[in-house]
Amino acid sequence: MTELLFREDAYLRDTQATVTAHTPEGGIVLDRALFYPTGGGQPGDSGAIHWDQTTLKIATTVKGEKEPVVLVPAEPAALPPIGAEVAQTLDWDRRYRHMRIHTALHLLSVVVPLPVTGGSISSEKGRLDFDMPEAPEDKEALTDALNALIEQDLVVSESWITDEELVANPGLVKTMSVKPPMGAGQVRLVRIGQGDDQVDLQPCGGTHVARTGEIGRVRIGKIEKKGRQNRRVNLLLDD
Ligand SMILES: [Zn+2]
Repeated sequence: MTELLFREDAYLRDTQATVTAHTPEGGIVLDRALFYPTGGGQPGDSGAIHWDQTTLKIATTVKGEKEPVVLVPAEPAALPPIGAEVAQTLDWDRRYRHMRIHTALHLLSVVVPLPVTGGSISSEKGRLDFDMPEAPEDKEALTDALNALIEQDLVVSESWITDEELVANPGLVKTMSVKPPMGAGQVRLVRIGQGDDQVDLQPCGGTHVARTGEIGRVRIGKIEKKGRQNRRVNLLLDD
């Protein structure tokens, strides 16, 4: 069983691990996963692993056929042997931007309260596709509403429910295209704000900042028409 460290503590930047397998494609499997694997619209993490006198750059991280997390080396090179102790170091600047944009997209789904049909994140920007026949008239008002939520510096927290509880509460699922991470018996819920200040609650397996203030100022970019029913809303960090 791989320990999913990125889920327990999204702020962990480096840690030790043991190599448990190599994949036929040349990927590396560790017993403790610091790197987030591509999924839910969020890119896989990059960084490096170190052992003996060797450093191997990791270009990205993906889900394997059986393994939940596989590190993909940036170039063909000798892999650390199975059983080797390695140090893994995240490209933190890139991951932290993913965390900020990812959390901002949760807030975008609050200020645009429509069903989400898709989404994607990069270190530059994020976007959500909405079931939205008419474009919103006032983009500035959306930007202002987003920044107001960010400035409230709301706490982002998580809790777990069973698959059955999620099935019994379908209203929790805003995103129709990305199935909630079910199947393990438990689903993680991400909550923004608490008590009377709660603004959002939805199943999500990604990485988030601890408080919305960390996102910093954002702005709504282009709103593109994607088919008859869909609009793509782009969101950019201001720095
Ligand atoms: Zn999320």
